[in-house]
Formats: sequence, structure tokens, C-alpha cells
Amino acid sequence: MSKKFNIIKKYITNEDLAVSHRLMNIILLMGLFISPVCLIFDLAIGSAIRSAIPLIFLFLLFVVSFVLANVVKKANFAGIVLTVVSTNCLVPYLYFRDGGRYSGMPMWLLLSSVFVWLLIKGWAVIAVYVSNIIVYAGIFYYEYTHPETVTRLADGQAESIDIVCGIYVIVLILGIIFKFQSKLYEKKKAELEEKENELMEINEKLKKANEAKSVFLASMSHEIRTPINAIVGMNEMVLRESDDDNVISYASNIESASGTLLSLVNDILDFTKIDSGLMEIIPDDYELYSVLNDCYTLLELRAAGKGLSLELVNAPDIPANLYGDEIRIRQIITNLLTNAVKYTDNGSITMTVGFTENDTPLYLSNEDAPNERLIDLRVSVKDTGRGISETGLKSLFNSFTRVDEKKNKNIEGTGLGLAITKQLTELMGGRIDVTSQEGVGSEFTVVIPQRAVGNATMGDFSERFRRKKNAGRKYKVSFVAPEARILVVDDLEVNLKVVTMLLKNTEAKIDTATGGEACLKAYESNDYDVVLLDHMMPEMDGMETLKQLKKSKKYMAKRTPVVALTANATLGAEKIYLDTGFDDYLTKPVKGEELEAMILKYIPEELVKKLSQGDENEE
Ligand code: ADP
Repeated sequence: MSKKFNIIKKYITNEDLAVSHRLMNIILLMGLFISPVCLIFDLAIGSAIRSAIPLIFLFLLFVVSFVLANVVKKANFAGIVLTVVSTNCLVPYLYFRDGGRYSGMPMWLLLSSVFVWLLIKGWAVIAVYVSNIIVYAGIFYYEYTHPETVTRLADGQAESIDIVCGIYVIVLILGIIFKFQSKLYEKKKAELEEKENELMEINEKLKKANEAKSVFLASMSHEIRTPINAIVGMNEMVLRESDDDNVISYASNIESASGTLLSLVNDILDFTKIDSGLMEIIPDDYELYSVLNDCYTLLELRAAGKGLSLELVNAPDIPANLYGDEIRIRQIITNLLTNAVKYTDNGSITMTVGFTENDTPLYLSNEDAPNERLIDLRVSVKDTGRGISETGLKSLFNSFTRVDEKKNKNIEGTGLGLAITKQLTELMGGRIDVTSQEGVGSEFTVVIPQRAVGNATMGDFSERFRRKKNAGRKYKVSFVAPEARILVVDDLEVNLKVVTMLLKNTEAKIDTATGGEACLKAYESNDYDVVLLDHMMPEMDGMETLKQLKKSKKYMAKRTPVVALTANATLGAEKIYLDTGFDDYLTKPVKGEELEAMILKYIPEELVKKLSQGDENEE
């Protein structure tokens, strides 16, 4: 019994069925149960078989509709058959047979018409409803003009009972339908609420995972930078001090490998920043020649090493000074040039720099500088390299995706460079395009809105570059300051050694301290002109040390410029250090030139002996 009941229940509760289908099943199952009961009851109280014919017909109609809906699986068609036959044939017939408007029949007309709206979907509803209007109008008109065709009930009492019974039954049916619909609604609402809670939980977990990922990547980057600092610093000393060509060549290889490692760490940090929407574009005035010069110089040697020629052609009337994010422009150009060198085995690489006037800036509002021109800076990098396949072109800008891997398996890469390049370009309101042919070469073009500052033009890059080219790469100290005293604070001996060695040629007196306490102690016997202070140190970290220095009773300790020298290169790190009270910020691995420039910025002028071209101290 319970098995049968479960089968019947399935027709009502099956969530795969449309609501109108399930509702129809309720009505049909009720009808299939009630109509035989009524038939037996009618026959039992002695009604003529003729008067039972409509009940038999109704029962058959329910059977046909049920089969159509649940066996043939044409639920809407079953609804149309059920409502058209009942509203336009069966109920009108019963109307004339069972008392017309002096009975409960008008209410049954109404109920059967309501079913049209509940059981049928689509335009068929309107068609069946219009047919109802016509049939019902015909019924009432015919009743009015031919009242004798209506078989009235026995007397007024029978009519009243029929109307009241009609009200009870119809209200019951409508009540059941209403309850069914509200139950469905409540159930769906509860399910939705549950899903929403689940989604919120998942969202929360994702947020936490994302935060954990960012923290992990930031600390990984910090941990990797620290040893690179030692490698780069010591290696720079080898390059400075060695005259042995072999040693210089080994050290140059170390220099290039550390550069690759560092750019990998930077890529991962940048990717995390972009991925979490934290990458900021910070525009400022910059000199275009200097950006192009840096990018060109960086890649020229690498290209030459592979026997490739690297040419830079530019529109000579391009503005010399621009307003935009110099660091990101440099990064985009370097990425494109690096790829061109990486994926070209022979031939040439040509970088073309041009511009067009632009009236519709995307991110650089010129409200604050109405007189300055807006331009679209256009940089294209064309190579005669391996080219990219058609399938490769489709996923070229996806992060962590390397394309044509078989062909490029001997080339190192992470698949991050182009994804970062594209996102940075778009963050600046620009766009990137690529054309490529396998075996022939590729051309990447970026167009980025920038603002021209002033009217000076850059002139021909190659000519300027040739004029300025510095033949040797030998290090030259930029100043000496034998009277200056510098304190370097870092918990790692090797880092202290790196800074000491890098500053050796400035002849400044350099003291070291291996922690915050030692730093404060050093001040007891000396005064310093600059303090280079690491952040992450055990016991008293850089922040706390700075606080103690500023609180110190010693006048000099309070006013010495303190520069953060840290492996923390995360977004916003510089601001945090400056806000905490540091005077400046340098990231590890630190370069000799940067370090000298920073010291020069802060030591008192009277202690500095700047070196003119003539007396440069060649090491
Ligand atoms: P990576 O070079 O680290 O793999 P990129 O995101 O810079 O990552 O480049 C993605 C892929 O695009 C590379 O793996 C390479 O297959 C292809 N690609 C990029 N630039 C060029 C180019 N100039 N010539 C040929 N293929 C290129």
C-alpha cells in the first residue's frame, strides 16, 4: 500500500516536473478518485444510468489527460485537452442540465476557467480563455433567449443547497491549490535561503583563502628576496673587484640568473595585486627617452648574445615628457621586448614608438590640466621569431598559460608576463593587439593614453642613444664622504656585509648592528648621519626600533634620517614605512647605485665630496 502511495506521491512531489504539471497531477488524481466514488453513490441512490454518463465521461477525460501528461510526457497538451473539453463542452452541458444560473453552476464555469490559467503555459492560455469567453457568452445568451432549455432544480431549497455546496467544494479546491502553491513557494524560499547561506560561507572561505594566498605570496617573496639580496650584493662586489675575465663571466651569469629570479618574484607579486584588484596606477611626469633607454639597454645585450639585432624606431616629434605611470609603461615594454628576444632564434627585433592625438582619454582626466595635450602612446614590438599558432593566439593572455609548449619547451617561462601586460595596459585605459604567423614572427602592439607635458619633442632615439652610449659597464663611485657615519641594522650578518661592501668606495664610516637593541646601544657611543634599518628582525623589529629611536633622549638619535631597507616589496609597503616615520624606503635586493644615491640624499652636504668626471674613482 505504502509503495503505491509513494508512486502516486512521486507525481506530485517530483521536482523535475513543472509546477503547472504537478498541480494538474493533483487535480487529475483527485478527479480519478472522486469521480468513481460519485458514480457508485449516484447509482446506489437509484439515479438513472443516463444521468451518470457525464461522470463516466469525466473519468475518461481524467484518464486520457493523465496518460498524456505522465506517459506521453506532453503536459501542456494534456492541460489544453483537459480545460478545452471541460470548459467548452462538459461544464456547459451540465449548466443546462443542472439548474443554470439558479444553481451553483455559474461558479463551476468560473472555476473551470481558472484552471485554464493554472494548467496551461504559453500563448495557448489566451486562445483557450478567448474560447471560454465566447462559449460562456453563448451559454448566457441562449439561456436568456431559450429559458425552457435549462432544467431547473426541484425547488428553491434545492437551488440554495446546490449553491452552498458549490461554494464549499470550490473554496475547498481553491484552498488546496493555494496551499499547494504557497507550500511550494515556502519550500523554494527555504532552499534559496539555504543556498544563499552556503554561498556566503563559500564566499567567506574564498575570501580567507585569497587573503591567505596573498599573505603567503608576500612572505614567500620576502623570504626569497632576502637571500637574493646577498647573492646580488656579493656578486656586485665580485664584478667590481675582479679583473679575471673568467670570474667576471661567471659573475655576469649569476647576475643575469638573479635578475630572472627577481623578475619571477615580482611577476608573482604583481599578479596577486592585479588578481585581488589592488594594483594601482600612479601617474606622474616622466621622460620618455629615459624609459625607452632603460628598456633598450636592458635587452640590447641579451639580444646581441643571441645574435639578434634590436632596433628602436620612433616618431621624432613624439613629446619628450609625458604624464602617466612610468613604472608600468616600463614593465609593459620590457615584457614585450623580453618575449621577443626569448622567442626569436635569428633575425631581428624592431620596436616602433609613435603616437596619435587623443581626444577621449579613458583614465587620465585632463580637467586639472586643461592646456595639456592627450595622446595615445603606441609601442609595437615586431620579431622574426617562432611565431604563435592559431590555437595559441586564443589563450595567449590567460594567466599561467604557456602556449605552443612543445615548440617552446627549451624556453623558461611561467605564462604570467602577457597576462600582466594585458591587465596593466587595460588598467591604464589602453589595449593590446597581436598578429603572428608561425615560423615568420609576431608583432605585439600596445596603445596607451598618456598626457603630453610641455612642447619639447624627443627627437631620434637611436641618434641620442649612440651619442650617450657609455662604452664600459665598469662601476664608478658617485661620491666620497670619509667624514660621514652610517649605521646599518639587520639581523642577518650577510646582509650587513653586503651593504658595508657596497658602500665601501664612498669611504664613509660604516657601523653595523644585528638588531634593534644593538642599534640603540650603538647610539650610546656614536652619532650617525643615516641609519639603514631592516624591518623583520627577531625581538625588536624595525618599526619598534624606529619608535625607540624617536623617543630617545639623545638629540641626534631623534633627528637622524632613517631609511627602511627591507625585503618587503608588497603593495603599499612604501606608504606604510613612510607613514610610520621612516624617511625613505629601499627594497632588497639593493643595488650599489641605488644605495649610494640614497645615502647621498640624506648625508649633510658639507660631508660630501662629489666626484667630477676627471677624478672619478674607477675601481
Ligand atoms: P612566458 O614567456 O613566461 O611563458 P608570457 O605570458 O610572457 O609567458 O607568454 C605566454 C606565451 O606566449 C609564451 O609561453 C609563448 O608561447 C607565447 N609568446 C609570447 N610572446 C611571444 C613571441 N614574441 N613570439 C612567440 N611566442 C610568444
